[in-house]
Amino acid sequence: MVETIKDELMKFENSNCAEDSIFFQAMEEVIYSISPLLESDPRYKSHAILERLVVPDRIIEFKVTWLDDNNKIQVNTGYRVQFNNALGPYKGGLRFHPTVNKGVLKFLGFEQILKNSLTGLPIGGAKGGSDFNPKGKSDFEIMKFCSAFMTELHKYIGPRVDVPAGDIGVGAREIGYLFGEYKKITSSYEGVLTGKPFMFGGSLMRPEATGYGVVYFTETMLEQELKEPLSGKICTVSGAGNVAIYTIEKLQAIGAIVVTCSDSQGTIYDSRGIDLKLVKEIKLERRASIKEYLDVYKEATYIPVSEYPEGGHAVWNIPCYAAFPCATQNELTEVDAKNLIANGCISVSEGANMPSTPEATELFLSNKICFAPAKAANAGGVAVSEFEMSQNASMQKWSFEKVDEKLKETMQQICKRVFLTAKDYGVEGNYVDGANIAGFKRVADAMIAEGI
Ligand code: GLU
Repeated sequence: MVETIKDELMKFENSNCAEDSIFFQAMEEVIYSISPLLESDPRYKSHAILERLVVPDRIIEFKVTWLDDNNKIQVNTGYRVQFNNALGPYKGGLRFHPTVNKGVLKFLGFEQILKNSLTGLPIGGAKGGSDFNPKGKSDFEIMKFCSAFMTELHKYIGPRVDVPAGDIGVGAREIGYLFGEYKKITSSYEGVLTGKPFMFGGSLMRPEATGYGVVYFTETMLEQELKEPLSGKICTVSGAGNVAIYTIEKLQAIGAIVVTCSDSQGTIYDSRGIDLKLVKEIKLERRASIKEYLDVYKEATYIPVSEYPEGGHAVWNIPCYAAFPCATQNELTEVDAKNLIANGCISVSEGANMPSTPEATELFLSNKICFAPAKAANAGGVAVSEFEMSQNASMQKWSFEKVDEKLKETMQQICKRVFLTAKDYGVEGNYVDGANIAGFKRVADAMIAEGI
């Protein structure tokens, strides 16, 4: 069996360029996880499902030219990776961040296929974005960039074709500008994007969905594994973006004590519990540095990046019962995993996409930490995006309570599906393998049924 896996990996490694290393990391984990499935059912090999699944249907790359506030011409690159539409229209977010390249979007798009499959909803996998850096840009510059980006992207998307949404650097403001431009170019008022502001077709609870979903998943996992609630427990969260903020909000609502949050410059540690209202004001309203938390709470601690443990992150050095990495990929290293385990952490739930390095994941699994991988734990965002598509298609508006109830139900179902799949394949308690096998199987079966 190990030989077969090595053969499979070699095929891809040979064609692997430096930019693709992160994509290869995501793919390698999946190939290892699904090997028992490939061994037990010869159809997947005879239909070359793996070989077909790891190659995107198409990658669209385009130039984005826009005028900054000084009337200087700026050029960026835009992308859309339409990975797989066996289960439904391409679906996945747009990321605006200087680190965006084809390799990053291939990794995110690949993860998205399996994540979307796990939701049980009719959505395929895609990802897109640009190397545009929104940091420090004026509102007007953001608008001009979004318009220029959509001038090209509109040719490739549609409510039944490909439905982008937000990701890092793309929230309701950017989706609003993108929607406005799409409408102008196509004269069509349709649900072509999700994460829209509520007043023109957005779903209630879409902003909260990923974070709330992570907590619903974790509650179900901890009940399943340990019969333990999160209330009263110390939790650490990294990040201060949309996912982190609403993870903190839901954790606080169920009585957990969240003592950290962070941004790219540093970490806040507040042992009495994070004041989320203040974090929202600093990060969502003023888009300022989290360091400003200290202007109000002098007793809290601010740890700048320069003082982080070597090869690690300050958040994961703080003792906790449950950890929630909600910032970005590979933010939680082997050093961090060792620190968390040594400090008695019993549960790690990934809010960001693939925040744990393979070495960290391995340590969590071998130390029997309850580990909720991103493609299962953070699927609540895209699930509510699909609810938004449903509402747009039927011209309905669901109440906050209805969306919340359906989100909770979806996360509980994903958690149970992952648990049972792991059990069926002899790896009980391993949610990484459970998620990869269950996600892969649904897409693979659809691909077989649809022919080549
Ligand atoms: N970017 C989010 C994710 O990683 C949401 C995608 C969507 O709503 O389409 O799942």
